[in-house]
Amino acid sequence: MGTGALARPGRAKLDKILFFNSRADSWGRLSLRVSLLMQIFLTILDMWAASRAVRHGGKRLGLVPTMGALHEGHLSLIRAAKSQSDSVAASIFVNPLQFGPNEDLAKYPRDFDRDCELLKKEGVDFLFAPSVEEMYPAGAVTHVTVEGLSDKLCGKSRPGHFRGVTTVVSKLFHIVEPDVAFFGQKDAAQLAIIRRMVRDLNFLVEIEACPIVRESDGLAMSSRNAYLNAQERKAALVLNRTLKRVQELFDQGERNAARLADGGKVAFPEEKSVRLDYLEIVDPDSLEALTEVKKTALAAVAGFVGTTRLIDNVVLGTEEKGFR
Ligand code: AMP
Repeated sequence: MGTGALARPGRAKLDKILFFNSRADSWGRLSLRVSLLMQIFLTILDMWAASRAVRHGGKRLGLVPTMGALHEGHLSLIRAAKSQSDSVAASIFVNPLQFGPNEDLAKYPRDFDRDCELLKKEGVDFLFAPSVEEMYPAGAVTHVTVEGLSDKLCGKSRPGHFRGVTTVVSKLFHIVEPDVAFFGQKDAAQLAIIRRMVRDLNFLVEIEACPIVRESDGLAMSSRNAYLNAQERKAALVLNRTLKRVQELFDQGERNAARLADGGKVAFPEEKSVRLDYLEIVDPDSLEALTEVKKTALAAVAGFVGTTRLIDNVVLGTEEKGFR
C-alpha cells in the first residue's frame, strides 16, 4: 500500500500502532502496514525514540544486530535476547562498509518479508531496518577501528572488513542504546573485536556470546551457505573436519600451535574444490597467534568453497565442545 496522503504517525500514536512500517517507495511516498506484534523502524530517530522509551520505563533492552537472510543461528541469538531482556530489538542492515570492492555486497541474500515473519514469530519487539543513506549520510567520514585486532584473521584477507563492522556496531549501539547485545561465536574474531571496542570506548552495554548453531552434519549455519550448490555444500564440510582434527589433537595432549594447525590442514587437500584461506591458533581475546596453548585458544578457519568464503572455529580448552 502506498499513498502520498498517508502522513507518518506522530510519536504519541506509536504505542497504539503495534507494528509500524513506513517504507518510502520509488516516488518517495510512504506506505503503512499494521500488525499486532512488531514495530519496524526505518529511521534512526524513530528507533532511538522507541528504545529510549523502553529504557525510561526501567526495562532491560536487548539488541541483536544482523544482516538479514535469517537462519536458526540468528534466531538462537533472538531467543537468548528474549530470555535475558524485557524488550528485544533486532536490526537488519547489509552494511556496505564491511564488504570489500570485489566481495558479495550486491548479491548478498536479502528477504525482508520472510525475515520480518521470522522475527515476529520469535516475539521481537522492534526491528530497525535503515537504508544505507540513513546510516551513512553523504559526507560521513568517521570510522571506528580496533587497532591491532582488526587486521588479524579475516582482517588479513578482508582489509577494512572489521573497521566496517566496528563502525556500524558502534552506530547501532548509539542509536538503540541497548543494555545488552548478542553476537554469535560463529564470528569469533568479530566478537573479540567488539568486546575490545566496548571496553576501550566505554560503551555501557554488556556483550553476550551465543554458541555456533550448526546443520545436522556439522556445517556452521551462515547466510552465505545459500550460495552453495549440492557439490559445494558437501565439500564445505572440510572446514568442520579440519576443526575436528585440531580438537582431537588437542584432546590427545598436543599444545604446540603449529602442530595443531598442521594436523588440521591435513583435511584440506582431500577437498580440491575448497581453498584454505587460513587456519590459525590464536588467543581468543587478543587474536594474537600462539606458539603454545597454555589454557584456551581459538582455532579459526576460513576457506573458499568455489567462490563462497566460509568461516568456522572452535575454542580449545573449554568444557563446551563447539562442534559435532
Ligand atoms: P550476520 O547476519 O551474518 O551478520 O550475523 C548476525 C549475527 O548472527 C552475528 O552475531 C553472527 O555471529 C551470528 N550468527 C551467524 N551465524 C551464526 C551461527 N551459525 N550460530 C550462531 N550465531 C550466528
